[in-house]
Amino acid sequence: MSTRLDLTQDVGALTARIVDVESVSGDEKALADAVEEALRPLPHLNVHRDGEAIVARTELGRGERVVIAGHIDTVPVAGNLPSRVEGGLLYGCGTSDMKAGVAVALKLAAALRAPSRDVTYVFYDCEEIEAERNGLLRLSRRHPALLAGDFAVLMEPTDGVIEGGCQGTLRAQVTTRGKRAHSARSWLGVNAVHAAEPVLAILNAYRARMPVVDGLEYHEGLNAVAIGGGVAGNVIPDECVVTVNYRFAPDLSLEDAQAHVSEVFDGFEVRFTDGAAAARPGLTHPVAAAFLEAVGGTPRAKLGWTDVSLFSSLGIPAVNYGPGDPNLAHQRGEYVALEKIIDCERRMLGWLG
Ligand SMILES: [Zn+2]
Repeated sequence: MSTRLDLTQDVGALTARIVDVESVSGDEKALADAVEEALRPLPHLNVHRDGEAIVARTELGRGERVVIAGHIDTVPVAGNLPSRVEGGLLYGCGTSDMKAGVAVALKLAAALRAPSRDVTYVFYDCEEIEAERNGLLRLSRRHPALLAGDFAVLMEPTDGVIEGGCQGTLRAQVTTRGKRAHSARSWLGVNAVHAAEPVLAILNAYRARMPVVDGLEYHEGLNAVAIGGGVAGNVIPDECVVTVNYRFAPDLSLEDAQAHVSEVFDGFEVRFTDGAAAARPGLTHPVAAAFLEAVGGTPRAKLGWTDVSLFSSLGIPAVNYGPGDPNLAHQRGEYVALEKIIDCERRMLGWLG
């Protein structure tokens, strides 16, 4: 079966076409081939390929460059292909997350021969699986110059609302220690689980910040996500580990966030196990302001962690904005409203046309 994409189709039909090219993470070749074949013949684009990621750029020498990006992979198919339309809704795996956004980006790439800003379109693989295989991360390491820009829009599902930046996340293990003993003679030991009580008291009393960063209000959280300790049913435990997760706003760097957690648990043994930086929404940048004005609505803070932070690490402010509904992502009954896709395309054309 040919997987040719016709970029002159309306954006709803194009979304359905893309949805029907199965592209579970790690198996994106057919769709990547189709995207490359559709973009290569367009004379106004320079097309690059790295693995199953495609980067297409206008080179018009404009004063600003924006990046429009989307992942082409999906979570595993759950009996929800091929796609079908019912009552103005397009159902199927990847409709919302995020082939509707990919379809909009492809329509823009074909239609905008002389956009008001230079545009870099990025279609990448392996977003839905472990971070090390992420196609955008790979591109940022191998070809950072290809991703350069003043502002980036990641077309993840946001229900047509601009979601700025993203909160960072870090995990730490707070360990209390004691002395092992037989529980029949417990006075000979020191109970490490009992010693964890003040750690939990600190967490219970903790007041999370809700800082405003670049005009958007974030909401932090510091929580225990696991607790472990104990040797056997008749032993006083000599170690207890409370794993805490700190979700922090983008006015803190990862190092700031670590310093904060160390301070909160001052006097305790704290070990950081993993972390990912937050990303500022960057909505004060002129090119972002023009985007806000063209797209409209009231932007909100992105509380989860997304690939916008990858752009942020390259010094590119980034937002999420796409036609899908984030609450439907990864669900068997996933769908996208056709009118939302059309609306998103219209607003993006208004910004860059
Ligand atoms: Zn996604």
